[in-house]
Amino acid sequence: MSLVEISYFAAAVLFILGLKQMASPVTARRGIVWAGVGMVLATVITFVHPQVHGNYLLMLLAIGIGGGIAWKTGKEVAMTDMPQMIALYNGMGGGAAAAIAAVELIKQEPMSDSVQMLAIFGALIGSIAFSGSLIAFAKLQGIKQLRGAIRFKNQQRINAGLFVVTAWMALGIATSGTDYGMFTLFLFFALALAFGVMMTLPIGGADMPVVISLYNAFTGLAVGFEGFVLENPAMMIAGIVVGSAGTLLTQLMAKAMNRPITNVLFSNFGETTGEAQEVTGAMKAVEAPDAAIMMAFAEKVIIIPGYGMAVAQAQHKVWELVKLLQDRGVTVKFAIHPVAGRMPGHMNVLLAEAGVPYDIIYDLDEINEEFNTADVALVIGANDVVNPVARTDPNSPIYGMPILNADHAKNVIVVKRGQGAGFSGVENHLFFADNCRMLYGDGQAVASELIANIKEI
Ligand code: NAP
Repeated sequence: MSLVEISYFAAAVLFILGLKQMASPVTARRGIVWAGVGMVLATVITFVHPQVHGNYLLMLLAIGIGGGIAWKTGKEVAMTDMPQMIALYNGMGGGAAAAIAAVELIKQEPMSDSVQMLAIFGALIGSIAFSGSLIAFAKLQGIKQLRGAIRFKNQQRINAGLFVVTAWMALGIATSGTDYGMFTLFLFFALALAFGVMMTLPIGGADMPVVISLYNAFTGLAVGFEGFVLENPAMMIAGIVVGSAGTLLTQLMAKAMNRPITNVLFSNFGETTGEAQEVTGAMKAVEAPDAAIMMAFAEKVIIIPGYGMAVAQAQHKVWELVKLLQDRGVTVKFAIHPVAGRMPGHMNVLLAEAGVPYDIIYDLDEINEEFNTADVALVIGANDVVNPVARTDPNSPIYGMPILNADHAKNVIVVKRGQGAGFSGVENHLFFADNCRMLYGDGQAVASELIANIKEI
């Protein structure tokens, strides 16, 4: 075994072990470091790869520019902007795989049929992931011209036609040995890139995290395919690992939202068949001193964090509040919905960052039956994940999504800035319930007020 082969093998092992460790918040940081070391090893060893001749300066320049931009943006990105950051990095991976395919195919050197097939299909899905991820990034970044779902007449037919033509060209190139022309090749790439854009335009911002995860799976597959073309085991294994992780994540998100992936790709979040249930009653406000008394004298409080806690960066204050309550003998637990926030695991990461111990953080399945025994459910910056219409209204776009049973608690306190709807745009019936009180304000400011008031009791 050569040094290069040993290094690629070691890199692949590091990727797999790193990913394994990312499965638990306790070991996740170490997992990221391990996978990062694997990536550095795989990159550095390229300089002594027997098939690489010259171009060292260009390689260093590319690593310097790419690494520099990634280091700076990675350090500065706000937690709430993480999904679009992932979209962008992911798109780059797909683009890189497509670029490898382009370089290999432009050479027009003979390849075995199966390798040529892998090269062209890697090019197809890599290009789609690249241009699609850029549109996803733009939508999440709130770029005005691309915000929301962009739809026009006969869109699905045009998209289907575009896909059939692109796939047909891919098949033609894959099966024609070295007889394909450069014009055909470039036209194929242009159409594949156009399809990525067209496929993403009609999908609303609300569904972007699922789409990003799907493109992540595409990128992994494309990198894996091109790994076979270059006979590079590190690329093959990294690609397969990313491809399968992305596929599982996409399935997990779709399942947690109770929507098939086809519904995300070819439909609208807001599409329903009939009239939504009318909401009756009014929202009732509570002030921080009264809310503080309710919690301080409770036996059990369950806290449900959501996207608003991330926006407010309230996790540190929330943890301070929990410690105060625990000192008074109150049992406090966190209930995490699988799609709370904007990425799976979003809330777990925030709470881990604040130092909340993992043994008081519970998943939906573990805690949902316990709300009946809670004196207070404190909903902080969450909305859709506690909306009871998901249980009761078949006409609601979120019908069927499993929700946290906050409404089953004796009292519910909801912290949010105003009366705005959640991510799905659906009115939350919980806010109008008799046992629910609204505590208006920014998540962090309200948590600070609660702390001050509890200290005075
Ligand atoms: P949500 O439904 O988006 O609601 C967040 C709430 O936070 C809003 O109602 C907002 O109300 C409030 N808020 C915003 N900024 C705040 C601040 N600074 N302080 C206090 N409150 C603030 O959030 P969620 O309940 O976490 O649900 C997540 C949604 O994302 C679900 O619909 C889910 O399907 C979707 N989604 C998640 C994922 C994932 O993987 N996690 C993926 C795809 C889609 P105000 O504006 O009134 O303050």
